[in-house]
Formats: sequence, structure tokens, C-alpha cells
Amino acid sequence: MREIIMAYQGEMALKGLNKSTFEAVLMKSMRYRLQHHGNWKVYRAQSTMYAEPLDDTADVEAAFTSLSHIFGIIRLSRAAVCEKNFETICETAEAYLGQTLRGIKTFKVEAKRADKSFPMKSPEISRELGAYLLGKHPHLRVDVHNPQLEVMVEIRDFGAYVHGPKVPAAGGLPVGTAGRALNMLSGGIDSPVAAYRMAKRGMALHHIHFASPPYTSEGAKRKVQALAQIVSEYTGSCNLYVVPYTRPQEYIRDNAPDVLFTVLMRRSMMRIANIQAKKMECEALITGESLAQVASQTVQAIACTDAAQDLPILRPLIGMDKNEIVETARMIGSFETSILPYEDCCTIFTPPHPKTRPHLDEILEAEANMPGLAALEAEAAQQIERIRIRVGEEVDFIG
Ligand code: ATP
Ligand code: MG
Repeated sequence: MREIIMAYQGEMALKGLNKSTFEAVLMKSMRYRLQHHGNWKVYRAQSTMYAEPLDDTADVEAAFTSLSHIFGIIRLSRAAVCEKNFETICETAEAYLGQTLRGIKTFKVEAKRADKSFPMKSPEISRELGAYLLGKHPHLRVDVHNPQLEVMVEIRDFGAYVHGPKVPAAGGLPVGTAGRALNMLSGGIDSPVAAYRMAKRGMALHHIHFASPPYTSEGAKRKVQALAQIVSEYTGSCNLYVVPYTRPQEYIRDNAPDVLFTVLMRRSMMRIANIQAKKMECEALITGESLAQVASQTVQAIACTDAAQDLPILRPLIGMDKNEIVETARMIGSFETSILPYEDCCTIFTPPHPKTRPHLDEILEAEANMPGLAALEAEAAQQIERIRIRVGEEVDFIG
């Protein structure tokens, strides 16, 4: 019996004329992801994407899991493929789902005939296949409203497909169809979730991380790398840029009023991120900020941060509670790594009482008193290290 994976489109089905562009991007992601799971062929017909195993190297189980993390696919099913011949369809349904039917009490058959040259109409297929399966499993009862198993049969261009229910997949839009951004990745809980949420809307992204050795350790950097690796399951392969940020940070500490330190530092990080973003043709920055979570995330502090540079700053978590963010972090598998205790450059040198309502005027004045900062930022931007993150590679960070 031949088994195949069928992937159904979500929101992109509504994209009208652009739909084929979205589909092409999605198929490219599917092919890229399936490389790790043996030999596969990916194609589309009637708005459905098909992933077909070509030989025994294909690992259907692992491929199914990988595909369930690709944005743009709203549901997935594993299906048995057979000839478009009613008798063969009945035998295939029994061979593929008979085991499941033995363990339940109620079922129904739902047929869909996309290929109108097939001689039986959908209701007739449903009725006749239902009768055939009842003959094989006399203990079963048909329940059209609330069956324990829905047996689906689809008569399509390339064959007949028999499968159980479609399972929910990642949803969203294919990564790469909604621009490109640079995600500011710390070692915390929030920023990996921010990357996940923007990728879900179709954004391609790279990450940038600010490290301040020796205040922050090599372990802290490897933790961030592990987080980028974990979310690559959703974002796809990308780069992690690591900025050696010690000197600008020390300079701000030594030359600015204590209470403004955090906002001044965040503005400085944004300026460096802006330089790297433009180099990589990114059109926006992303952060994991959430309103009022900490002193630097009040609306006044955010206004000061925004004014530091000219790219839009996307903050997908701005209206989310911490517990909602944590729930997503658990779902995408980043939470356990995020809570490992490593230092972050944003939490060193922080004053005990940062100003929660800074004014841009006082910020600009403080910056005017730091004439050496621009050169240090330019130097840091020059020395950015690039780490390649490839989807599907093992996360070798053990804490
Ligand atoms: P997170 O859980 O993401 O660390 P947080 O609640 O600790 O967030 P902050 O430390 O104020 O909040 O950081 C807010 C945002 O600034 C982070 O979500 C991230 O986008 C960015 N950020 C913080 N530290 C760094 C860093 N070292 N490198 C890059 N970006 C950072
Ligand atoms: Mg943090």
C-alpha cells in the first residue's frame, strides 16, 4: 500500500492572484524540510500539497512531524493512495483503517469527488463504502453527527485517497511571503516566542544577540544559539549574529545618569541592530517586549526606544500576558532552555530604580554627553560574528 502525506492550505487559500506565489514558497519549504527524511516528491493539485515517499528511505512519521511545523499548512493527513476503482478503494480503506475500526463503535464515511469523470457521485461513494465497511465490521454503527472515526475518501486527479481525520498543523502563512526582519534574541522566554509569532505571519528572519563578555559567558551565548536552533523548526534556517557589546555598554554605564541607563542602552542596541538589519536587507526589527513587563517596556520608554532608529519595530507580544507567552514557549519547545539560569547583557549594570517615564529630551541630552558612543557602536557593528543555524540539526546544548 502506498502512503502519502496531504497538506491543506489555511489563510493563503484566500490570496487570489498571489496564491501561486504563496504555494511555490510553501512547496520550497516542504522540499527543504523533507531532505532530512529520505527521498520525497512534493507537488500540488487542487490547492492541496502532496508529499509522496519515493522509496524506503522516506520516514513518514518524522516527515509528518516536520511538516506540522511549516507555516502555511493548516491541516495534514496521512492517506493511502490507490487506483480510482471502487473495489480497490474499498479494499484499501479496509487495509488502511480496518485496525482502527475494530477498536471503535461508530464511524461515518465522507467522500469528495474532485474528479468528475469518476462514475459514482459523492453520496453514493459514501453510502456504498459505508456498507462495505459495515459488512467487514458488523459491530459498527454509522453516526453521521458525532462519529468516533470519519473515513474520508477523495477522488482526485492522480488517484483515490483514503484517510482518517485531518489533524491540525501550524497554520499561518509560508515563511518568506511577508518580508524579512531581524529578531532581537536574548536568552529569555519572550524573544523566541516573538520570532515564532512573526514567522507565523510569513516573515523570514535572522536573529541578533548582544553579548558582553566577560560579564556574559560563553555558556550564555551557546544557550541563545540553542534557542535559535529550537525555533528554526518554525522560522527555517537563518543566521544568528552575535554583537560584541561590552565596550559600548561599559561606556554608557560610565557616562550616563544611572536612572536612564537601560533606555540609553536599548537605544544603542537598536542602532546597531539597524545597521546589521540593513546589511541583510531586513525591513524591520522584532523584539519580545510586552507592555509594562519591566521598566523599559512602559509606553514612554518604548517611545524613546522607537526614536533611536528608522526601521519599524515589531513587537508581537506587546499585548500578551506572561502566562500566555509561557504557554506558547512550552508549545514550541523553547521554554525549558529559556529558563536555564544564564546572564543576559540587558540585566547587567541595571540601576536599582530605572526611570519608568523617560522623556526623549533628557535622553537626547544624555546622548549628547556621550560623544564617544557612536564610534564604539560602529566598531561593535563591524565585529559581529555570524553563526549559521540550520533547521533539522541537533541542539547540542545540554545546559
Ligand atoms: P526575554 O524573555 O526575551 O529576554 P525580557 O522580559 O527579559 O525578554 P528585556 O530583557 O527587557 O525583557 O528585553 C526585551 C527584549 O529586548 C527582548 O525580548 C529581546 O527582544 C531584546 N533583548 C534583550 N536582551 C537582548 C540581547 N542580549 N540581545 C538581543 N536582544 C535582546
Ligand atoms: Mg531578557
